[in-house]
Amino acid sequence: MPLFVTGLPEPGWLGRITFPAMVSYSRLARRPLPRHLIARCPTYVDSRGFTELKKHGRWTITPHAYVDWLRNHREKINLQWAAPQDWMCEPAIIHGGRFGRETFAGTHLSVREHLHRTVDNFLTLRQLAPDLKIFPVVQGWELDDYLHCVELYAAAGVDLAALPLVGIGSVCRRQSTAEIGQIVTTLAGLGLRLHGFGVKTLGLLRYGSYLTSADSMAWSKDAFHSPPLPGCVHRNCANCLLYAVQWRARLLARLHTPQHHTERKAA
Ligand SMILES: [Zn+2]
Repeated sequence: MPLFVTGLPEPGWLGRITFPAMVSYSRLARRPLPRHLIARCPTYVDSRGFTELKKHGRWTITPHAYVDWLRNHREKINLQWAAPQDWMCEPAIIHGGRFGRETFAGTHLSVREHLHRTVDNFLTLRQLAPDLKIFPVVQGWELDDYLHCVELYAAAGVDLAALPLVGIGSVCRRQSTAEIGQIVTTLAGLGLRLHGFGVKTLGLLRYGSYLTSADSMAWSKDAFHSPPLPGCVHRNCANCLLYAVQWRARLLARLHTPQHHTERKAA
């Protein structure tokens, strides 16, 4: 079973937990970090790609700005891994439009162009910051796209199978778990040590053994639709560290995962 990385909305919580956590760059960089923050957990940074492309149809955060922020704050947040500024390949991201209550700007580019831009961005980030642990992401929509993306990395001299971590993009919003499973098992079969973004519990149970690590913020949605915990005074626990900690413990019990990091309750 993979190392489970809990998605958190509040950078300040990083000083109160010891298990691996993921925080979005948008949350981290929106305002100065709490002055006395010293993260006690290994922190994964999500680059906020989905929100960025959904809203703008392009990246407005430059690789320089991203790398500078990571470099200036890596000790404070105890940076473990940072995601690149990749280009998701969901049809909504590419074509744009209204989907329920969500509006997508659309990049109006091809999937293949997204793959090229994803690989180019990784090369740029690696060149700008060889000292930072930024992992590449394999993007795509159909299985063939992912395999093509792997080839693009290889052609650029990046041997993905030799790297400790490779993200797998554009899977978290799919409906079909079987489709995700096929992509994950194929890429794992190439020897890639995969990180799954926003993996649902069902997905972890089905194909978690093919992942090296996976993150999820599903606890927050779960809490939103549940009554608050006994003793909590907020209307729901969607933004509650105690709920996140307890949800994580329940998930790990379901997965029977011996995790590598020391477990400790929130301070
Ligand atoms: Zn609560």
